[in-house]
Amino acid sequence: MSELHEARVVAGHGRRFVVETTDGARLTCLTAGRAVQPVCGDRVRVATDAEPRITEVLPRRSLFSKADGRGRAVAAVANLDRVIMVLAPIPAPELFLMDKYLAAIEGMGIEAGIVLNKMDLVDEDDDGGLGRRLAYLQGLGYRIYKVSTQDETGLEGFAAGLKGHDSMLVGQSGVGKSSLLNALVPEAGHRIDELSAATDEGRHTTTATTLHPLPQGGALVDSPGVRDLELSVRDPGKIGPLFRDIRAVAPQCRFANCLHLQEPGCAVKQAVEEKKMPESRYTSYRWLMTTMQQAKDRKYD
Ligand code: GDP
Ligand code: ZN
Repeated sequence: MSELHEARVVAGHGRRFVVETTDGARLTCLTAGRAVQPVCGDRVRVATDAEPRITEVLPRRSLFSKADGRGRAVAAVANLDRVIMVLAPIPAPELFLMDKYLAAIEGMGIEAGIVLNKMDLVDEDDDGGLGRRLAYLQGLGYRIYKVSTQDETGLEGFAAGLKGHDSMLVGQSGVGKSSLLNALVPEAGHRIDELSAATDEGRHTTTATTLHPLPQGGALVDSPGVRDLELSVRDPGKIGPLFRDIRAVAPQCRFANCLHLQEPGCAVKQAVEEKKMPESRYTSYRWLMTTMQQAKDRKYD
């Protein structure tokens, strides 16, 4: 008779996984077959009569996907409650990427949050409008944190905000994701080395997606492979609802299926004209619509 344990995947790379059983034991395992496809964060069943094998992935409450080189969504992390976009004054945030990330996370049914790091470098009187934009996004219901890993401003409040949830940090390279992880999980560096070594086939140590329990409860996932997020939707009519501000005014458009482009009586365009919605938010929306249309129209030639 095979012995089955319930466990959580705490690191995954390729086909090798490290799981932590409910009684705290850590096992390195493969899966029982190609049909079993766990990712980091998954709750799984593991058979331990012989070599430990993951036999089943338990139902997920959310699935975070990353874009592969060709813009296709690849499952990356399961059961996240929050994805937190990290911004910094340097490198300066790209408005389009911010809006695209927020929309992509909304599409995954995961709550998005925003942390502005490197507050020690922010001149609040001359921040290029970043503070104003964050206040606007806060008005849309996004949780905003302002921190500095350098002088430790705001870190306590941010840590308290992560308590009891499973979260992941995303953002442009250089904004301070590793610095934040190290500030919040002091032993993270050591853990990453250890878990990466366990999931590596032994030749070259590649960095695994890793789940770190937080001292205050909850966990922080580090996924070095996440370079870009793509929208999971393929239908242009489904993009608007991923922008919380567009979703809020769209019911007032004259046409129920308004795409907020050329249609008369469009409440979204009116909100932009009346400066109730930043024009750049609308521009991001249009860019996403255009790229999706181009992808659809692409034919073999
Ligand atoms: P990542 O690429 O997002 O993981 O960013 P890193 O954590 O590697 O940080 C990128 C650079 O920003 C490093 O040189 C850090 O020392 C620096 N950095 C991180 N946090 C802060 C901060 O709060 N203030 C300042 N001034 N620099 C920071
Ligand atoms: Zn409209």
